[in-house]
Amino acid sequence: MKALLIENNNNVYQTELKEFDDSLLPEGNVMVEVEYSGLNYKDALAITGKSPVVRQFPMVPGIDFAGKVIQSDSDKFKEGDTVVLNGWGVGERHWGGLGQRARVNADWLIPLPSAFTTRQAMAIGTAGYTAMLCVLELEKHGVKPDDGEILVTGAAGGVGSVAIALLAKLGYQVMALTGRPSEADYLKSLGTQGIIDRSEMSEPSRPLGKERWAGVIDVVGSHVLANACATTKYGGIVAACGLAGGMDLPGSVAPFILRGVKLAGVDSVMCPYEKRLEAWTRLATDLDLELLESLTTDIQLEDAIEKSKALLAGEIRGRLVVKTSS
Ligand code: NDP
Repeated sequence: MKALLIENNNNVYQTELKEFDDSLLPEGNVMVEVEYSGLNYKDALAITGKSPVVRQFPMVPGIDFAGKVIQSDSDKFKEGDTVVLNGWGVGERHWGGLGQRARVNADWLIPLPSAFTTRQAMAIGTAGYTAMLCVLELEKHGVKPDDGEILVTGAAGGVGSVAIALLAKLGYQVMALTGRPSEADYLKSLGTQGIIDRSEMSEPSRPLGKERWAGVIDVVGSHVLANACATTKYGGIVAACGLAGGMDLPGSVAPFILRGVKLAGVDSVMCPYEKRLEAWTRLATDLDLELLESLTTDIQLEDAIEKSKALLAGEIRGRLVVKTSS
């Protein structure tokens, strides 16, 4: 099988496309023929070594994949089943999806909803599934389309693009914060009603600003997240899932204690099984597949290293799907 392999020998960090026997795959009770994987922000960090995402070496990166079961010692899956995997430390501590086969624990797999092909599942990928988890947080908090504008940050990226498509289809009025105003037409085609330049929210500002958002989905962190909290309406919610702009949170408690704003953390990696199922089930009904296609770019396994650099530089629009078979 072919796979990307990350090695770290004497602090020389290197990612290469390698060929090896699948008997080298780590332990697990289900073997999957990976058809597609996604190139996510975390994969790009792992592949480039820009952040310490990888916990042991050598490592096959890839935090998600979709494919067919080719061998199973579990009652949960049989040969021929189509499955999808997100997270659980795969691609960080356990060999992941950026290869042609993966051996994993059956508990980590979800049956692929029949609404999707394996390619579409990875066009959604961990970014899209996380976008859905964020939308579920807004709904759980009771935010309704009539309550006002929803802000989506990092809008032209993977999580942002899918979040906009989902929210627009559900009838919400979506505003997109982006550092790429040149992507305005693209963002409008996904359903956003207006564009805000990132610079308007990326500098330090007052603890409280004018109330504007009924809800926020934030992938950026740092000043953008602090400013989003400071401009959320009384009783609104901010779903925070990312750190594309920084891991810090340089704000104040004012929005929480004076406006009852809720800050909801969203994690996709260790998210309980039932919630994952709910997210994938909702994606099957609430995501427009034509829009999904419009935000998707196909690449090959061998392109993933170069594309990782572009992704971290904020140059990739929407989602990258990696075809793992040759
Ligand atoms: P992408 O790279 O596809 O998108 C990130 C977007 O953030 C970019 O397109 C850009 O949008 C914006 N951005 C990039 N750099 C900066 C910067 N320095 N300052 C401000 N904005 C910036 O990544 P994903 O959408 O896949 O992931 C986004 C974030 O969400 C990442 O931090 C990722 O780790 C996190 N994430 C977390 C998950 C979880 O379980 N909590 C799961 C999935 C993702 P634009 O050009 O429009 O401004």
